[in-house]
Parts: sequence; C-alpha cells; structure tokens
Amino acid sequence: MSGSKAGGLLELAEIAIEKAPTDIEVTADASLKTDLMANLKAEFEKEREGIHVSDLVYCIRKAAFRKLQPKPLTEVQFSYFLAGRGHHETIQFISNAEPEKEIEWNGIKGSIDLLADSVPVEIKTTRSFKRDIPPHYIRQLSYYCAMLEKTEGRLLILYLTPNVNHRNEPEEMLKAYTVKIHDLEKIKKELLESAHQLQAALDEKNVNLAPAVREEDAWQCKSCEYAEECRSKEASH
Ligand code: SF4
Repeated sequence: MSGSKAGGLLELAEIAIEKAPTDIEVTADASLKTDLMANLKAEFEKEREGIHVSDLVYCIRKAAFRKLQPKPLTEVQFSYFLAGRGHHETIQFISNAEPEKEIEWNGIKGSIDLLADSVPVEIKTTRSFKRDIPPHYIRQLSYYCAMLEKTEGRLLILYLTPNVNHRNEPEEMLKAYTVKIHDLEKIKKELLESAHQLQAALDEKNVNLAPAVREEDAWQCKSCEYAEECRSKEASH
C-alpha cells in the first residue's frame, strides 16, 4: 500500500472516530444473554422420547451418541436451530397448507413441516453456496412419504447465501421440487432397519451397533461433536 493511500485511510478512520457519539455508552449485557441462553437450552436441549425420523436421516451412530452420551449444545448449534426454527415457522405461517403434523408409524415418530392436499412438504434451509439437493433432504421426505403411504412429496429449499452461476447471474434463493417415489416398500424397509439398528445400540448401550454415516454424507464427520469418540470406538472395535 502506498504511503498516501495509507495516510488517506488513517484520516478516514480518524474522521469516523470523531463522529462517533460520545453521549452513548455501549457495554456487554451479560444477564440478557444468560437469560436467552437458559431459554434456548430449555427449548433445544430437552430430551426427546423415542426414535424420530430425524435420528435416522443423518448419521445413526451420531443419534446413538446423542442419546447415550448427550453433550451441551454449542452457541453455533443454538444459532443454527434458532434460525432454522424461525424460517420454518414463518413459511408455515404464510402457507395455505396444514402446518407441522406429528405422525407415528411402527413406533417411529415424525414431524411433517406442511401437508398440502395430504401430500407431505419438507422445508429445508441451508447456508450452502451450492444449489444441488443433498441426499438426506430426499431421504427425510421419502421416509415421511413411506409413513403416510404416499408416493409423492414436495421439497422446498430456502438458500440463505446468495451465489452466482458460471455466467455470473444470480442463483435462485428458493427452489421447489416434486419428488415421486417408485418403490415405497424399499423405503419402508430401509426406515425400519435403521430404526432397529438405533434401538439395538440404545438397548445395548453400544454406539458401535449403530452404523456410521453413509458415504455420500461423510462431510458430516467434519463438524461432528462426537468425531473423537467415534474414531476411538472404531479403533477399539
Ligand atoms: S464422526 Fe461421522 S460417523 Fe462418527 S458419529 Fe460423527 S457423523 Fe457419525
């Protein structure tokens, strides 16, 4: 950086400081944050009874770890849950479909975001730049379809990060898909098998009885809060 350019930036910074209001004082408010964190913990860390579809969609071993060796959520996880809840509830509120329906099938619990003419609609929000459809989005929707005996579902993806395509044009921020399932029995079998694997791990208190993440979802291991325990369990197995 040239001397005159650096000097120019310094001058700008000095002007900004001079213009800062001196009659206002800003200090960290620990009690406001503590209250909010306590409420977030009460809401998002409460133990869920039984096996849910969301336990079976990502990594079944991680679901076993979470139930057998629960860990407090991090601030990053709280911020993701909070943002996700807000987006979901707003879309549910403004839609014409039936919002948030709790279902149960063969002891597996599920929570469907929307039911539009009795067709399940799954809402996903993502910070990813990519505009592809991650396999676990389809898996989750297909599980709900199987539980409801429906061969069709709908997927709504809200992208939170703007991006441009190879022609430098802005990519869509909202995408919607219809998903048709040709072999519902296969999906039902997979869902039941996954639930049995998780139940066996919980009954035996042995996370190794739950399968590790599927190859196409291996990216999840990078940010997994149980990565260390998982590696040492695998090594000792
Ligand atoms: S490290 Fe990977 S395989 Fe192990 S529990 Fe976490 S997500 Fe699953």
